[in-house]
Amino acid sequence: MTQKKTKNNNFYSLLASLVLTIIFTLIMSVFFYQNDVFNLKIILIFSLLVFITSLVIINFYVEKNIYKRVEKIYKNIMVLESKPTPVQNVPISNDMDFLENEINRYAKLKKLEVQSFKEREEFRKEFVGNVAHELKTPLFTVQGYISTLLDGAMDNPEILKKYLQRADKGVERLIYIVQDLDLITKIEFGENKLSKSNFDIIVLIKNIFEDLEMKAKKKNITLLIDDSVKNSIMVYADMERIQQVVTNLIDNSIKYGDTNGTTEVSVETFDAKKFVVRITDNGEGIDEEHISRLFERFYRVDKSGSRTEGGSGLGLSIVKHIIDAHDESIFVESKYGIGSEFSFTLPEAI
Ligand code: ADP
Repeated sequence: MTQKKTKNNNFYSLLASLVLTIIFTLIMSVFFYQNDVFNLKIILIFSLLVFITSLVIINFYVEKNIYKRVEKIYKNIMVLESKPTPVQNVPISNDMDFLENEINRYAKLKKLEVQSFKEREEFRKEFVGNVAHELKTPLFTVQGYISTLLDGAMDNPEILKKYLQRADKGVERLIYIVQDLDLITKIEFGENKLSKSNFDIIVLIKNIFEDLEMKAKKKNITLLIDDSVKNSIMVYADMERIQQVVTNLIDNSIKYGDTNGTTEVSVETFDAKKFVVRITDNGEGIDEEHISRLFERFYRVDKSGSRTEGGSGLGLSIVKHIIDAHDESIFVESKYGIGSEFSFTLPEAI
């Protein structure tokens, strides 16, 4: 291959020498002709000399001043591209077409990289903005209550208790926003890598029901497992993370479920090697226009916060991150005013 490239370069030197020889021979012939001393032998010898001299000079010049520099550029590109080959072993080429292709390819690669950096930077800015916005509201609320108390309201024991309770709620909200952010960052950085094992998903669901029982009772929501579900279904996944997924989904079904409603969980066969876990509620449901954005960070259907229920807007984003990390799928079906069904797949035990 290198031989082919060198041949290619030599071809350009030969061509240039040939053009020079033709020009000089023509000038020489005209000169001899005009002076009536035209001698074919001398002209041929002269042409040969011009051809050899120009070939040597061109080759020497091109080799020294152009190829060597281009080789250096190529070598630097290889280093910039961080190719695993050590610098000394970089396969150097001085073929112009090859080098041009390499440089174009490199430029395209860098363009794509810059584009992706820009997108990430935009995303980062938006994310920092969202975090600041989310933290601002509860912080100001807490500060408002504390300032009012310090300004004299604390002298009234009833108001003191009420405002402290409200400030406590604000701090609680701040804590779960920070916890959610912490979790999402850990999952993204691949920290807390998945530690998969075989476990019984039915036992896990029952435990979560117990944890959320009080919360469900407050709205008189019944938590139940579909009758057709077997007593035990073994799956293979990161149990702690899947517990987080099921907790977030059941928690949402309570938060956005109607008073006296029902949350039903079922586990069915999805395909030969997978199960699907469904969490269905008959709550307020979600309007079609919001569904595609539900898993975005901080996305909430009711942005105004006028709704009594609502968290950080990170719950579903965490769910999606965990399911993606397992290479599994998540689905949503919801009708405004009727209810929602969130479902995700899990592989069977190995
Ligand atoms: P949040 O912390 O606000 O609950 P999520 O990411 O868990 O954030 O959910 C995003 C939005 O999706 C919620 O604000 C809510 O409007 C909507 N949502 C989630 N689950 C349900 C559900 N089961 N029923 C109705 N709406 C839901």
